[in-house]
Amino acid sequence: MVSAKGILGGDSKPTKIHHLIKALENTPESKSYRESWDASKPVSVFKTPETLPDGTPCTAVTVILRTKGCAWWWKSGCTFCGYFNDVRDDITSDDMYSQWEEAKRRTNDFEGCDMAKVYTSGTFFEDRENPPEWQETVLRETFERELHLVIEAQAQMCTPEKLAWVAKHHPGCTVAIGLEAYDDRVLRFHVNKGFSTKQWHKAVDILRDNGLRVKTYLLFKPPFMSEADALNHTTSWLRQVAHHSDEVSVNPMNIQRKTLVDRLYRNREYRPPWLWSLIEMIQGSHEDISQLECRLIVHPTAGGKVRGAHNCKICDGEAVAAIERYSVSGDIGEFTNLDCSCKAVWRAELDNDSSLPTPLGSGTFRRGNPIDLARAP
Ligand code: SF4
Ligand SMILES: [Zn+2]
Repeated sequence: MVSAKGILGGDSKPTKIHHLIKALENTPESKSYRESWDASKPVSVFKTPETLPDGTPCTAVTVILRTKGCAWWWKSGCTFCGYFNDVRDDITSDDMYSQWEEAKRRTNDFEGCDMAKVYTSGTFFEDRENPPEWQETVLRETFERELHLVIEAQAQMCTPEKLAWVAKHHPGCTVAIGLEAYDDRVLRFHVNKGFSTKQWHKAVDILRDNGLRVKTYLLFKPPFMSEADALNHTTSWLRQVAHHSDEVSVNPMNIQRKTLVDRLYRNREYRPPWLWSLIEMIQGSHEDISQLECRLIVHPTAGGKVRGAHNCKICDGEAVAAIERYSVSGDIGEFTNLDCSCKAVWRAELDNDSSLPTPLGSGTFRRGNPIDLARAP
């Protein structure tokens, strides 16, 4: 017979979540992989259709830079974040300038773009992560070119001094904060975020004081959460944070290499969210959100793939396309006539999650024909 002690882990000390997060990142293989990147070239530069703050459609350039990475990552790190795969801790100021020049060269000095998203796998204006003189160059050059700038930050890095400095060099830009969940217990135990909802509110106030725009990221289905809980919680968080944000971007989990979530996934203990759940969330909150001056964006990264939000494979393409269209048009009619037999499987999973004592969820990890899955051992 197994003793209760055995079930609960015996006398060994509980493992801290950030030790689990760090385990894979520190392997020699992982380090040599990161150091194989060319430090003078950005991770990627690409253009996408976007919408300016006043609602005008435009083209945006996204520049993802290879940086020293997020200070929170080096200390601990979020459970789902695989950005460390793209960083090098020996990046110099010269490397940062060469990457920025390379981004301009590849896009012919951002030709045809009205918006620039400059992402540094961390906080853009954190001086330990990025040289301050380089930050100033990017803020100034994007402002001179009349590009609406979007940068990212952790909430606790948003100090009055730093945001006043950002606003001085690029007035009115957008600062995106990865809040992920509007719930302190989820932030601490599911995401390991490193800041609280109180710190996020403070950051929002300072952004507003400096005339900067607020973009909030929410994470759909953090680890250790069932599909039904993810749907109910995220819909509620979305309604609440929309009151304080100019834009809310809900990011369905996509499984990034060598993260804690990746380990759960490979152990068949985590399934990325269903696209039906995202559609249900949008339909359930659209009316409330559209009354506010807040835009809702959902871009399912790796949508339709096994490591991204997906349905049954047959309807994935159509479902992802409808969600992407909604993010641009804001028209709930995009989901009319969308249906598939797998919707019943998804609905049954939600019902089971809500009625069975399975806090981590009742859904099957695997995708494919539900009848074949039921027959499989
Ligand atoms: S704060 Fe952002 S960049 Fe840093 S570990 Fe978390 S998700 Fe990754
Ligand atoms: Zn389907």
